Amino acid sequence: MLDQSTNRPELPPEIARRRTFAIISHPDAGKTTLTEKFLLYGGAIQMAGQVRAKGESRRTRSDYMKMELERGISVSASAMSFDFGNYRFNLVDTPGHSDFSEDTYRTLTAVDAAVMVIDGAKGIESQTQKLFEVCRLRDLPILTFCNKMDRESRDTFEIIDEIQENLAIDVTPASWPIGVGRDFIGCYDLLRDRLELMDRADRNKVAESISINGLDDPKLAEHIPADLLEKLREDVEMVRELMPPMDAKALLEGTLTPIWFGSAINSFGVKELMDGIANYGPEPQPQPATPRPMMPEETKVAGFVFKVQANMDAKHRDRVAFVRLASGHFKRGMKLTHVRSKKVMSISNPVLFLAADRELAEEAWAGDIIGIPNHGQLRIGDTLTEGEALRVTGIPSFAPELLQTVRAGDPMKAKHLEKALMQFAEEGAAKVFKPMIGSGFIVGVVGALQFEVLASRIEQEYNLPVRFEASQFTSARWVAGPKEAVDKFVNENKGHMATDNDGDSVYLTRLQWDIDRVVRDYPDVKLTATKEMM
Ligand code: GDP
Repeated sequence: MLDQSTNRPELPPEIARRRTFAIISHPDAGKTTLTEKFLLYGGAIQMAGQVRAKGESRRTRSDYMKMELERGISVSASAMSFDFGNYRFNLVDTPGHSDFSEDTYRTLTAVDAAVMVIDGAKGIESQTQKLFEVCRLRDLPILTFCNKMDRESRDTFEIIDEIQENLAIDVTPASWPIGVGRDFIGCYDLLRDRLELMDRADRNKVAESISINGLDDPKLAEHIPADLLEKLREDVEMVRELMPPMDAKALLEGTLTPIWFGSAINSFGVKELMDGIANYGPEPQPQPATPRPMMPEETKVAGFVFKVQANMDAKHRDRVAFVRLASGHFKRGMKLTHVRSKKVMSISNPVLFLAADRELAEEAWAGDIIGIPNHGQLRIGDTLTEGEALRVTGIPSFAPELLQTVRAGDPMKAKHLEKALMQFAEEGAAKVFKPMIGSGFIVGVVGALQFEVLASRIEQEYNLPVRFEASQFTSARWVAGPKEAVDKFVNENKGHMATDNDGDSVYLTRLQWDIDRVVRDYPDVKLTATKEMM
């Protein structure tokens, strides 16, 4: 049966109740606090404060290293599943630091929607904008939460204007704040005609919710001071005249974002946002793949790896591949085909990430994120199916923006270093290039902080001190084209050539001029700054 509004087949109830999303925000806007309240309402934790240690965005370098040591924490925070009413929420964590943007991009391939948190006093900040642009590349539906309304905040119309103008997306208010700063008393729920009143005395108390019969209901005057009520009526009249109404289809297409106003720390507005995710946040969506997309309504299981985390347990060199299930009903012990190698894998100990704990996943459905421990077979961009040769698409690898040469402190340990580097490359933490001529490796990253993190991890996990040094190259491009043309190009440019960790040819240079020259002299050869991971 087709669903009228989306023109898509109706999904089995277990799949239709899943909501898989990420939270994007600028550091300090309140992502950690909101996550904590989600888990609280989801019954996944008993007390606020338990996820405090997991907030990644404000971490300094040393915090990050420490977190690397305490890997368990960051891993369980990578995906969190909890129930909310009849819904199963899968919240996927995005790395907070801007140096990890490639990782963030890939994380966003695994979700069906994003919650954008903004600070009511600051509006759209640099990192919000960047992350939003990444969501836009995939037309991800966005739900917005304007946080910290208990403090002095900007004018509501101004905030909405700013979102519309800076992000070029329509905004529809789902709630409307009443009063500002100290005088903020709560919100009017525009979608359900309710009055939500914030309790300043008890931060963990769910707001009092009063059913209202439209804005002329005399009940309003019992709860709202006259001046604020008059302003509310004026504001809402303007909203209904000027702003688009809630539209599930426009939300799904990523052209409209509903905005809720609240205060995460006061548990205010959070439940309404969660209701919004449940009611409007899309159910599991089709996933781009070749030769055909993976559809959530299919009964056969298919999924793909969007993240790999290695050395979670320092004693065993194990890795966990995070798999987004795109279709079907997965059961523990299932045999799935690893499409890249065509080998069948028996998935005997998959894990589900329930808030702070990991637990064995007996079953999972399309939309869920499961972790599959493995010894390196599973890489980012890999697809698992019940046999069909489907390959997920749209999980790119970006050309690194910074290159450095790396050497082992002890030259006898070059082989060890190679092994360590390959592992990080497969994890997606860095690009590793082996030059055709000369020794050593060239490591490429997106942000300078990653060099330090890598050096520290190689030292800790492999007991191998390393040195990063300036490289003679500053850019890397993948080489594509007909084999004959590529071979000729490689032969004539050996000093610039290297292979990446998948064995693909890479052209290294320090000059844009070189790249222009290749374009001119080798018309059949294509140099690209991204490569599909498959
Ligand atoms: P993150 O960096 O986005 O994860 O932000 P956090 O959740 O760590 O919050 C940053 C700071 O803002 C912390 O000091 C929080 O206590 C505070 N905060 C979060 N939500 C609110 C809120 O609703 N009102 C106020 N006044 N402060 C908040």
